[in-house]
Amino acid sequence: MRLQYLLRWGTCLMLTALGTGAKPGGPANSKKIEIRGIYGSPEPFWKKDLHLDQLGVNAVFMHDGAINEKIMSRARLEGLKVFAEFATLNGKNYVDQHPEAWAIDQHGKKVEAATWFMGVCPTEPGFRRYRTDALKNLLRKFDLDGVWMDYLHYHAQFEDPEPILPETCFCDHCLSLFQAATGLPLPGGNTAEKADWILRHQEQIWRNWRCTIIAGWVRDFKKILKEEKPGALLGIYHCPWNDEDFNGARRRILGLDYDLLREHADVFSPMVYHGRMGKDPEWVKENISWFTHRLDIQPDQYPKVWPIVQAHNDPGVITPEVFEKVLRYGAIGRSSGVMMFTSYSVAEDEEKTAIMKKVYTGW
Ligand SMILES: [Zn+2]
Repeated sequence: MRLQYLLRWGTCLMLTALGTGAKPGGPANSKKIEIRGIYGSPEPFWKKDLHLDQLGVNAVFMHDGAINEKIMSRARLEGLKVFAEFATLNGKNYVDQHPEAWAIDQHGKKVEAATWFMGVCPTEPGFRRYRTDALKNLLRKFDLDGVWMDYLHYHAQFEDPEPILPETCFCDHCLSLFQAATGLPLPGGNTAEKADWILRHQEQIWRNWRCTIIAGWVRDFKKILKEEKPGALLGIYHCPWNDEDFNGARRRILGLDYDLLREHADVFSPMVYHGRMGKDPEWVKENISWFTHRLDIQPDQYPKVWPIVQAHNDPGVITPEVFEKVLRYGAIGRSSGVMMFTSYSVAEDEEKTAIMKKVYTGW
């Protein structure tokens, strides 16, 4: 999501002075939120002489490429956990130099970027090695508390009100693997003809198999994570759609099967960006309530649910009042944590910073 997001949405660092006192008033939280996170670098707060622990924050989630020792050191001083967002199936730049990893649609064509996202073929061995090596290097470089897999889905764009949902990936490698895994003899013909046959005659088997590919990434990343750093957590940022939204497209097109993912992920972070998705704030409450029931989340057990909500003013304006609502809704019910997109958006707005403090310190 993120680096691209930050570039696309802009990162206005309006670093005005801010007092550390929170606004009085407001209802008391009925529960302590276990993980009180920010998504993005903590530096916008630090540049304003704010200490995150004094704002009630206890976790930072940030793009792996933006992490450095200086941030790690100060984060530790403030008692913060640090989780690295790890772009997983984003092939931007990679596919230009490695066309064999380009995702192929049902017409046999290379997919085009879906707004800013360029998905990659999730079975291509070279790409898989490339990402796996990057994960190991990251874990050896920093003493992280966990890794959050981002862009974990087949090529699509689910964050827009009108999502882009192509059928992929029908590259030769995927077709061979599908055939080997299922024992189904594919007909002759070109890629488009094979794709047509699969979608007409073996649609369910095809979609089930695709979900095992995505879940396989989580399974394999979890194994690496636990080998390199036992105790660290593996989280996933993911499309928050329910089982019916867009005719079941979360599973049907994106390849996200909650039941399979539940076996491997330690933490689910549904991306409930209500403004960006054209929803009202109440949708966050409904979605997280539904989701925690759907996964049968239990107190003090894994997997846990720590959603990411929208603080950023684009598209539209997220007022401080709405920000408070979605932040509280993100931690509702059996959700045990929450974070917001982005740290910059909160740090630049004194009222949003005060609200974050109010929610996170239990006012
Ligand atoms: Zn493929």
